[in-house]
Amino acid sequence: MFDYPQHAHQRRHGPRGYNDYRSFKPWLRDEFAFRCVYCLWRETWSAAGDAAFSVEHLQSQSRQPDLARDYTNLVYACCGCNSAKQDHDSPLDPCRDRLAEHVFVSPDGAVIAKSAEGQAFIDLCLLNRPALVSARQTMFRLWAILNVESSDEARELKHRLFGYPSDLPNLAKLHPPDGNSIRSGLATSFFERRQRGELPTLFCGLEPAR
Ligand SMILES: [Zn+2]
Repeated sequence: MFDYPQHAHQRRHGPRGYNDYRSFKPWLRDEFAFRCVYCLWRETWSAAGDAAFSVEHLQSQSRQPDLARDYTNLVYACCGCNSAKQDHDSPLDPCRDRLAEHVFVSPDGAVIAKSAEGQAFIDLCLLNRPALVSARQTMFRLWAILNVESSDEARELKHRLFGYPSDLPNLAKLHPPDGNSIRSGLATSFFERRQRGELPTLFCGLEPAR
């Protein structure tokens, strides 16, 4: 549940031309599977849902104003990581680096570095802030409990917490002012996959189901 990606993320969408960078949010929600690229916290675990997440600039707006509304410079992050990182550039870029080679989450909920860049990444985004480590522990325990509990209530709770958000964005209805450079990505959106009955009930990101 807290597995960092084995591969650098390859963009599936390419919206262009929004004046306000926040307009890219529905695309980024889908692009990064409704979770923070830094700490892996999910929308379904936040009381506020996607309101607890924001559009994050890989290269800060202050240093790279020309990239402020460039989709390739935007990722999806929880407000905690976004605020911890401020306008510093991250030593690791989820679209360039294989994060799993640099960091992993231990069973006690802490993020452990496997490289110097990984440690700098942890320090910059405060990935071991105490409330977050404790919350990861809670999720590990809940997952273990729900997996041995077979009641309807447990199954419903498991799907709600460890499935996908109910409000998947219908990206085909959106019309970026300057178009979408990767139109083929629409068919891979979570909304379309759910429409086709291909979306698993439990979250598995874009990696093969386990
Ligand atoms: Zn985060």
